[in-house]
Amino acid sequence: MTKTLIPFADMGLNPALLQALTSEGYHTPTPIQSQAIPDVMKGKDLLGIAQTGTGKTAAFALPILHRLAADRKAPVPRTTRALILSPTRELASQIADSFKVYGAHLGFRVAVIFGGVKYGGQERALQQGLDILVATPGRLLDHVQQKTLDLSTTEIFVLDEADQMLDLGFVKPIRQVVSRMTARRQNLFFSATMPTEIGKLAGELLKDPVKVQVTPQATTVERINQSVIIVEQGRKRALLSEMFADPAMTRCLVFTKTKHGADKVAAYLEAGGVEAGAIHGNKSQSQRERALEAFKKGKLRVLVATDIAARGIDVDGVSHVVNFELPFVPEAYVHRIGRTARAGADGSAVSFCAPDEMKLLRDIERVTRQKLKAGIAATTRPWRRWTPPSWLRASARRPPCRTTSVRAATDAAPAVAAATAIRTATACVPKAARVSPTAFAAAASPAPSRPTAPSRRVRPSIPWPANARPSHRWKATSR
Ligand code: AMP
Repeated sequence: MTKTLIPFADMGLNPALLQALTSEGYHTPTPIQSQAIPDVMKGKDLLGIAQTGTGKTAAFALPILHRLAADRKAPVPRTTRALILSPTRELASQIADSFKVYGAHLGFRVAVIFGGVKYGGQERALQQGLDILVATPGRLLDHVQQKTLDLSTTEIFVLDEADQMLDLGFVKPIRQVVSRMTARRQNLFFSATMPTEIGKLAGELLKDPVKVQVTPQATTVERINQSVIIVEQGRKRALLSEMFADPAMTRCLVFTKTKHGADKVAAYLEAGGVEAGAIHGNKSQSQRERALEAFKKGKLRVLVATDIAARGIDVDGVSHVVNFELPFVPEAYVHRIGRTARAGADGSAVSFCAPDEMKLLRDIERVTRQKLKAGIAATTRPWRRWTPPSWLRASARRPPCRTTSVRAATDAAPAVAAATAIRTATACVPKAARVSPTAFAAAASPAPSRPTAPSRRVRPSIPWPANARPSHRWKATSR
């Protein structure tokens, strides 16, 4: 059932906020904004289950600004009226920027504090007193412990991306922060997923909260065209580089497992003439900011990032997200691909999956409750020591024919139909790396209960993958 969206103008928001929204070109609230803003304006606690890209920042920033404006007070030195905790520096900066944009006509004091930079400027900002403070947990605790910040009078507390806080080991610091605040405060709690530990934390923090869930738990954004390419680890960089022959890959975020890996992939792409930068925890704050700015301005076509560094990257028009390696934590998949298809746009997510990542792929499918469309890169040889999963094995018995006869195509008709669908989905994959129709079919077709015997009219093919065939034959079948 679709709920009617309450227009911004009917929410009773401060006119200064409506003016800022008009300047920003926000005409209609997103579902989370429509559901959350009226209750948060009344001072209620909120539990918001929402993915990134749903407009959740404005869903808490607008009613907070409205409430602070309705009860204006001069900021008391070393205090803040509202505190927003974010898992990463980038996200903290973006949230603070959003507060400044939406509150442009209200004249509030907004500051952002995070680690990796000097204390002096932050101490000066805190000394004057703030209306809104956006912070990462570690540096915030440092300030609290050094008594440069007193949280005992903070009226509104927001915990954003709570599940990411858990991944980063921030749950204990969060509890320490909370213990410094008065119990008479409003709490807003946002998370894309609700692992047990986070559910427990929400239970401790929230009092009779209003619950808003804009998509079912951990469901990936529907507009994102998702696909998987099965490819050996050693061939991933070449495949990625080839993908950029497609002009549709205008602004692409690539996720790697390690910082070193991010540097290597970026350097490889650069060497191949693709403008690429890397962003990860070993880069200084200014290097990160420069790379992000260049990516935003379109000077870099690719930004290669680790999960932690990429959190909070809010860049419009990301056309593709490539998971160069699958994340260890399946929920991170949701966050990664949520960097594309933001604010109503479409986007594609392509995941490279090496044989030893099959379990991670299954975990992602389990958590996101979907079956991802998979194909095998034509550059990929069957692996000698790899036993393909049953869904590939069963279909592979319907042989990938060496001679593509009409009959063979008829035999594989339902699977080929699926393959066509996948080919559309992975249109960004270059020809050399495209999956052979039969391999696509093998990957895509549901495993038959009994293997289909090959047609007598089709030349008996070599069973795959026991007898590995050279990669050029795979290409031959993909014509
Ligand atoms: P968020 O989920 O808060 O990171 O927001 C995702 C993107 O949507 C940001 O770039 C916002 O500027 C944009 N956005 C948020 N709310 C609206 C709205 N009501 N209308 C248009 N764009 C919006």
